[in-house]
Amino acid sequence: MICDLCPRECHIERGDTNGGYCGVGMLPKIARIAPHYDEEPILSGTHGAGTIFFSGCSLRCVFCQNYTISSEDNGRYITPYALSEEYKRLESMGVHNIEFVTPTHYIDAILESLEIYRPKLPLIYNSSGYDRADSLRRLEGIIDVYLPDFKYSDNMLANRLSGCNNYVEIATTAITEMLRQTGEPIIEDGLIKRGVIIRHLVLPNHVKNSIGVLELITEWFGTHVPISLMSQYFPAGRAEEFPDINRRVTKREYQKVLDKLYELGLDGFAQDTESADIKYVPKWDY
Ligand code: SF4
Repeated sequence: MICDLCPRECHIERGDTNGGYCGVGMLPKIARIAPHYDEEPILSGTHGAGTIFFSGCSLRCVFCQNYTISSEDNGRYITPYALSEEYKRLESMGVHNIEFVTPTHYIDAILESLEIYRPKLPLIYNSSGYDRADSLRRLEGIIDVYLPDFKYSDNMLANRLSGCNNYVEIATTAITEMLRQTGEPIIEDGLIKRGVIIRHLVLPNHVKNSIGVLELITEWFGTHVPISLMSQYFPAGRAEEFPDINRRVTKREYQKVLDKLYELGLDGFAQDTESADIKYVPKWDY
């Protein structure tokens, strides 16, 4: 099919195994399917989030913590039917939800798999925030929880590190659509059932960008959307080519952003700075 699924709008013929900017075909290419215990506590609970890590990416940040699956050729193609069977396998393992990680470029295959089998668990859409609102509208009534990143308040930085000069406009529009679909968060027995959580990864030397993100969130969405402020950055992928991001985030940098979060009256989750370690990157073993 001619693919314009994401904001890259490649408008190319995308076959089963060949794609445009995202680098992958229409068939789901999978890097890992397993319970995951390192998400926010309202996602991981005690039995884990049922994560499905898709290969390829429409954003392809140079520093991606999962670079080997987002921009290199890791993973295995499966059919939508095989994907639907994986939902059953995860359910039988007792996970709390089914979490699609980096699903933007696979919306068609995901919808097809859900027509074959709809899990009885909340469905989580975990994306870069670089999503087209009209593609998201196709997920209305299907996705229960959106977990978008909000990476940049500075489009020049977005252009340098993620190759897009419209990240701010795309992410604010996408998150507006996500919030329209889900409304306020619903949390039962310590687990999220519905809503939006916005993630932000603090980058070294870019505290101003992070503070700008928190200000944009407050301005666009108010203070009721939970924020997950992440400190897990370590130089990965092509980060060594970019001196400003070729180190970890200091405790002082992270604290400055956290202070701003409190000052603005935002709430959510803070991450232990010890989590900035390659050992927390999952094994791509599918
Ligand atoms: S999903 Fe892939 S092929 Fe389609 S528009 Fe986006 S980057 Fe291009």
